[in-house]
Amino acid sequence: MHHAGRDPTADEVSGTRSRRAATPGLTRRPAELADVIVVGGGMTGLAAADALVAQGLGVQVVETAPAVGGLARSISVEGESIEAYYHHAFPQDRELRDLIDRLGLADRFEWRRASTAVLDSGRVYPFDSPMDLLRFAPLSLPARIRLGMGAAVAIVHGRSRRAAGMRVGEAGPLWFGRSGYDALWRPLLEGKFGSMAPDVAAAWLVARIRQRAQARKGGKGDRLGYLQGGFGVVAEHLAEDLARSGVNIACGAPVDSLTREGGRWRARFDGREVIGRAVVVAASGDVLSNLVRLPEDYRRAIEGIPYRAVVCVLLELDRPLSRHYWINLAQRSDLACVAVIEHTNFIPAERYGGRHLVYLTHYVEPEGRAWNAEADEIVGAVEEILRAINGRFERSWIVATHISRDRWAQPVPLAGGPMPGLPLATGLPGLFHASLAHIYPDDRGVSLALGLGRRVAATATAWLAEAELTESEDRV
Ligand SMILES: Cc1cc2nc3c(=O)[nH]c(=O)nc-3n(C[C@H](O)[C@H](O)[C@H](O)COP(=O)(O)OP(=O)(O)OC[C@H]3O[C@@H](n4cnc5c(N)ncnc54)[C@H](O)[C@@H]3O)c2cc1C
Repeated sequence: MHHAGRDPTADEVSGTRSRRAATPGLTRRPAELADVIVVGGGMTGLAAADALVAQGLGVQVVETAPAVGGLARSISVEGESIEAYYHHAFPQDRELRDLIDRLGLADRFEWRRASTAVLDSGRVYPFDSPMDLLRFAPLSLPARIRLGMGAAVAIVHGRSRRAAGMRVGEAGPLWFGRSGYDALWRPLLEGKFGSMAPDVAAAWLVARIRQRAQARKGGKGDRLGYLQGGFGVVAEHLAEDLARSGVNIACGAPVDSLTREGGRWRARFDGREVIGRAVVVAASGDVLSNLVRLPEDYRRAIEGIPYRAVVCVLLELDRPLSRHYWINLAQRSDLACVAVIEHTNFIPAERYGGRHLVYLTHYVEPEGRAWNAEADEIVGAVEEILRAINGRFERSWIVATHISRDRWAQPVPLAGGPMPGLPLATGLPGLFHASLAHIYPDDRGVSLALGLGRRVAATATAWLAEAELTESEDRV
């Protein structure tokens, strides 16, 4: 169900210097036979391949895009690689830290404090401390206090049985107060989930608040981790490590069908075919259901998970826009930008040849105007916001723009929906699925993707062992 005429995983660059970072040397002819075929070379697929090869299994990874990394992939700015979409690590991201250590990248990893703010009615309000909250003028003082207590209330109430099936549209006003919810949370949730926002599971919001609370501990601003060159570097190094261990990785080749014959799976891609005993599809449910006829209950579960697309413009500016890393927009712009993220207020501009880098992010429906918009149109739609952030902003500050889009960027965790407990086993023998929807109630995350990859590999390995036992018993 890809949008006609638009590559759903595309980075386009205007300006002269930038090209998508490639992962050279990884496209080899596939092995004719593999134990496991992994569809998708994002973090989940690569982590699955890593865990499978560690069990001595033969693995073939197939990735649509010209390079690995998926949503965490890199592009290049002034010769420095940087993610197509802003990324940072949280203190609790253990899987990611362990992998960075194992790949010998620890000296490129750093912790930094980064500041957050909110743009409301044309004014930027810092939002890093309880004092900032008390100064948040759009709300009355009692409403500010209620909003401030809301996170603790959400964490405590979120554990109750009553909260388990609640929607954010009900729980939000209860936790943060009506005016606090309307001023702050509602615009953010609508920015991310559109008209489905009120029906998002309250449990998802609680998980999100908990994640953030960890980063807020012990200082002003969030304590966030970054890997020099961006997290796409992890994917690239992991892919090289896998290739050295004998894993075949074919990039630039979408799998277009999966069929099962004589107890073996056949994956077709790029006019070629690879045969495997098991398959892991590490991509969205719609990708999976386009490849194979699924059992009815799994297909229905997948169809019950809507996905939002992302369109993100990275601006290269010749000077800073603001002093904040992350500005949430409580006021809407044309084309509904949800946040302005000034990466170079987190990582110094010197790393990017003195360029100041600003991401303009939009979660959208894949038919809408924003999905099809070019960078220029998006900049035009956001100009008023940029000027509200910095009254002197001029378009002439923009030296180059990069635009990235992904169709399957954000599953919508609907209350009462199928995401809780969505199985990794699809119900077809040897076919496993691991997607952004499988980490509910947590939001997406590289570290969570790595953990999920390990989990799906363990499930596939156990199934293979069982199948081998049955086959050898049959032979006896
Ligand atoms: C805007 C944005 C900001 C984010 N910020 C952060 C952050 O700050 N910190 C953090 O930890 N995480 C962040 N994330 C989340 C993180 O990027 C993801 O959780 C993680 O990269 C998901 O990896 P994945 O492999 O599960 O999925 P994906 O990255 O979506 O990988 C799926 C892969 O499957 C491939 N594929 C699809 N169809 C086929 C096919 N038919 N054949 C072959 N291949 C196919 C796709 O091309 C893709 O590479 C962010 C994500 C976005 C979109």
